[in-house]
Amino acid sequence: MHGRGGQGAVTASRIIATAAYEEGTYSQAIPMYGTERRGAPLTAFVRLDDVRVRERELVHTPDISIVLDPLIAKQQAVVDNLKPGGLVILNTAHKPEEVELGGDFKVATIDATTIALETLGRPITNTAILGAFAKITGLLKLESIEKAILKYFPGRLGEMNIAAVRRSYEEASDPIQAVVTKAPAEKVDIHVGGYGVLKDVSSWRLLTPEIDVDTCIGCKNCWIFCPETAIEWDEDTMKPSIRYNACKGCGLCANECPVDAIEMVRVEA
Ligand code: SF4
Ligand code: SF4
Repeated sequence: MHGRGGQGAVTASRIIATAAYEEGTYSQAIPMYGTERRGAPLTAFVRLDDVRVRERELVHTPDISIVLDPLIAKQQAVVDNLKPGGLVILNTAHKPEEVELGGDFKVATIDATTIALETLGRPITNTAILGAFAKITGLLKLESIEKAILKYFPGRLGEMNIAAVRRSYEEASDPIQAVVTKAPAEKVDIHVGGYGVLKDVSSWRLLTPEIDVDTCIGCKNCWIFCPETAIEWDEDTMKPSIRYNACKGCGLCANECPVDAIEMVRVEA
């Protein structure tokens, strides 16, 4: 599973492993933590088997790659290590035939970001991709995933996540053979994570802050709270501006603005 800090890849891997266990399958979820911060690329792994799983190594040649972030394929090799004939499930608004990833594998797509925004109100795409996983692979029943979700998210939050899973199950595309042989521009090893300090984090953004300087009252809250120091302050105008290559789209600035002068606008992937 390829995602970013804050998208719930690690929780999704645990939900799959828990749901599989409920169905009598041996399972294992392995999170790979580095020095990730919110928005940084990370990887989590799941093994399912009908015999006890004794291996503890990271998964180097997966059968299935689940990609929770629509832009992460620009930074991570999300398909290069797939087994021949494998499957990649991508969070994207595009159809499988429009996806620019090529090789001997199948591609299925689901617009998990839209589902997450409309069911959870936040771009946390982990459960919004799990329904697609259940439907496309047939490895788990939807009911098992829902049961596992309630273990991790009891109450109303659980119900909201179940709504995301059900919608994802309904809207997942059928997989097709990958049709394009164009590889991602910047490839790195599949086991990245711990990106530390990248100079340009603009591709992490699903939502982009836009400042309405006329509404801004110059309180400096956004400048103080931005965790990436992406906001610059102009002492002459007493207004902020955003260095977009340093902005990861976390939305803290918009949350802290007392006059709603910052709007988070969805990025087209
Ligand atoms: S969304 Fe706002 S707070 Fe978050 S990194 Fe960008 S400018 Fe900073
Ligand atoms: S938090 Fe809002 S009002 Fe305050 S400086 Fe930033 S944009 Fe302006």
